[in-house]
Amino acid sequence: MMTQKMSSKFTTAKSVILQTVDIIRPPKRMTVTECAEEHVYLKDEAYTGYYPSHLAPLMAEPADCLTSRHFDSVILAAGVQNGKTQSVILNGAAHKIVADPMDVMIVEKDMASANDFSVRRLDRMLNNSPKLKGLQLEGRTADTVFRKKFKSGQLLNIGWPSRNQLAGKPIGFMLGTDYDRWPDDVGGEGSGYDQMKKRTTTYMSKAMCAVESTPSKEVEDPKWQAKAEAPHEAPPTKGILGLYNTGDRRMVYAQCPHCEEYFRPSPNPDESMFMPEAESVEERAAQIALVCDNCESHITLEHERAFRATARWLKEGQTIDTNGVISGEGRKSKRASFWCAGWFASFNSWEEIGLTYARAEDQYTRSGDEEAMKNCFNQEFVYPYIPKARRSKIANYDLLKDRALDIDRFEVPEGVRTIITSVDVQGGKNARFEFGVFGLGVDNRVWPMDRYALREVDRNGTTDRIQPAVYEEDWEQLNLKITATFKLPDGKELMNHHLVVDCGGEAGVYDNALNWYRTLAPELARKCHLVRGMGGEAVKKKIKENNDKVVLSWPDSREQHGRKVSSKGDVPVLMINTDRFKDDIMGQLERDFDGYGYVQFPKYYKDIHYEELLNAEIREPYGWEQIRGKSNETLDLFVYALAIWHYLGGHDINWQRPPLWAAELDKNSNVITSGVRQQVKKRPFRRVRNAGR
Ligand SMILES: [Zn+2]
Repeated sequence: MMTQKMSSKFTTAKSVILQTVDIIRPPKRMTVTECAEEHVYLKDEAYTGYYPSHLAPLMAEPADCLTSRHFDSVILAAGVQNGKTQSVILNGAAHKIVADPMDVMIVEKDMASANDFSVRRLDRMLNNSPKLKGLQLEGRTADTVFRKKFKSGQLLNIGWPSRNQLAGKPIGFMLGTDYDRWPDDVGGEGSGYDQMKKRTTTYMSKAMCAVESTPSKEVEDPKWQAKAEAPHEAPPTKGILGLYNTGDRRMVYAQCPHCEEYFRPSPNPDESMFMPEAESVEERAAQIALVCDNCESHITLEHERAFRATARWLKEGQTIDTNGVISGEGRKSKRASFWCAGWFASFNSWEEIGLTYARAEDQYTRSGDEEAMKNCFNQEFVYPYIPKARRSKIANYDLLKDRALDIDRFEVPEGVRTIITSVDVQGGKNARFEFGVFGLGVDNRVWPMDRYALREVDRNGTTDRIQPAVYEEDWEQLNLKITATFKLPDGKELMNHHLVVDCGGEAGVYDNALNWYRTLAPELARKCHLVRGMGGEAVKKKIKENNDKVVLSWPDSREQHGRKVSSKGDVPVLMINTDRFKDDIMGQLERDFDGYGYVQFPKYYKDIHYEELLNAEIREPYGWEQIRGKSNETLDLFVYALAIWHYLGGHDINWQRPPLWAAELDKNSNVITSGVRQQVKKRPFRRVRNAGR
């Protein structure tokens, strides 16, 4: 049956019989590496001959797990110069062709790369290896760039991560290369790995899904630290290291030439590398050393070769003694996962790695450009890179707490000229208004003041949960906040200058916010703004004016068909580029002595408020991203306050001649006596006629 597919005119009866014999023969019991040593012939500038497994000894174990029925996946994170694509992807495919015919798919990061991989790597391997060539079907339809047919009937497909490519007929043996350059989500259907795996499931114990890559995804929580009970765990990232964490977590150990203990060199150079200062980058690289975890001795270039020769893979939980005897079962998983530190790169010497590092550091010092350092971490050391801005972000808030002001909740700190109150609106089960009061002063100094939430409202004599997304009247709770006052030392009071209210988020909030704003008496509406924050990619679409920090808009949905009309162009909404304000805030918080933008917290700020400000979001290359499960209200409130300060011209005030609302307190238009405050509170909050409704 198989032979009918063959179109070759050279087919003879004898060859058909031989092939048939080949096909019915049971799978040859050989490992992927043994198969490659015998049948995969390489020919390039660096090497010509059958696959030299001794040159990349650490790649044998991941490759050989491809044929183990104990595992349904092989996950390999390793450096660029490690031969991982040859060992796992190409040799893995060769094994299926020679020893265990079944359909195979190799997935590259995009179509162009798939094309290149097929022509430059796969075709060369097939053409140079007589055994493989002999099993391949020839002819224009049998041998195309993206599909190779074999005499056994098996197919070798080369694809790329797209929904069409990854979905389809079951294939038992899926191989993904350069995995961290794939999109995190392929065609809205989940990760590439998950989709590949789905395709193999019908093959039961023969199913195999393998991926390899250098890591390039950023760490999701820059403050992550390894736990004592999980020493092999990689920092939380998407991509290859995230997958690695789900497997049995094998890392490489080797024997220290000084204390003779085996230890696990960290892939993180900040933990494992020693490199002294020197005149030139070359001199620095020549002095690179690996620091022993056990005796802290330096393992230098003279020991490199002998040290590497002792390298062994250990699963998390296994131990190794000074004789190299491994004990323990280790972590159990259907996924064999490997993380090979750059210290063990097959085709890269420590001196070469050191040179790349020293050059990258040099580039950063000269220009502030971190790209070379990121590449060095990812590709040479096999560790995810955290940009310096994110690492230098205040790691803990002890310093901020230590210098906090000992003042009362309603007291105005010395130096404050203007008070702004921000409101964050939360819907859902835990619905509430969150308030942040911020004092601002000369040269944009900031004093975070009060911080509280309003969760309850009196509804017809009974206490009920406040529901801003449901009840428009609940918004009236904000009215008194517009003219709230705070105590000055001389008995006078400083009135809130502006109330800024978030109206984004849950459905219902926006409509109720607009309706509430319409009810406000004009003198109150003047002291009040609705805002919507935009971060990341959304900024490009909505805030078009040259990456402006704030843009005033008059939303009007009357022209849009099929939508409930809530905005009629009558209520101003301030659009805020939140990423830029968050960058500013983090910069201001770094300042640890008085001056431009200095921030002073009050003693009654709780840990939770610092957490919400400092540890709730991380800076991704495209903008700020909230860490899942963390609350960021204090940061949002801070952003709104700075945004309205910016909009009102606070950042551009000439402090020799400030406007009255930012003037010294004896001239400040917001300073009032308690008598005046009583009068203010008696004024109507609502418009006489609800003209806007
Ligand atoms: Zn040692």
